[in-house]
Amino acid sequence: TPPSAPAFKPVRRWPLKLIMVDAYIGLGSNLDDPQAHIIRALEELKQLPGSCLVGRSSLYVTSPVGPQSQPDYINAACRLGTELGAHDLLEQLQAIEHCHGRLREGEQWGPRTLDLDLLLYGSEIIDMPDLKVPHSELHRRCFVLQPLHEIAGDVVVPGHGSVSDLLAAADCNGVRKLDHD
Ligand code: ATP
Ligand code: CA
Ligand code: CA
Repeated sequence: TPPSAPAFKPVRRWPLKLIMVDAYIGLGSNLDDPQAHIIRALEELKQLPGSCLVGRSSLYVTSPVGPQSQPDYINAACRLGTELGAHDLLEQLQAIEHCHGRLREGEQWGPRTLDLDLLLYGSEIIDMPDLKVPHSELHRRCFVLQPLHEIAGDVVVPGHGSVSDLLAAADCNGVRKLDHD
């Protein structure tokens, strides 16, 4: 006699459908050998769980925004393919900042060993008290737009247009690409 039909339809658990999101991170440092902080942070971003560093810009020397009595910054941007949710990713970025001795009691926009901002998370718009994506200043900051343009010229900043158009509209003095890093 033929075998009887199974009582339950088996649930197919494999392959799992993994959703990878393209996230862009802005990096900045202006204390204790900024270039070394940025290069080390890029290495650490490579190691993030469920993530893959798929692009990075050159390093840029930029004039400080906010208090002017602080050293110039080194800035860069990178692109991660990630399975992490936006909040989990933010938490990971803050853990990396913490490893670099980032202190949070200083004045706003004051000097720091490492700043990692989540600039874009796919095409999502997130408006939570602790997380705003796209980063709320991204569209007008040359020190972010310039490195981002190197790896994401065609990418659209939700609500603001393409990175190329934003960079063209910005008046970018005081941002200089480093020849070597
Ligand atoms: P700015 O945000 O203007 O670049 P900052 O980088 O100096 O200033 P921080 O002190 O590093 O600001 O961060 C303050 C808070 O900003 C963090 O505790 C975090 O919760 C919040 N935040 C909101 N949106 C983002 C984002 N897209 N990326 C990183 N932090 C964010
Ligand atoms: Ca910042
Ligand atoms: Ca920050």
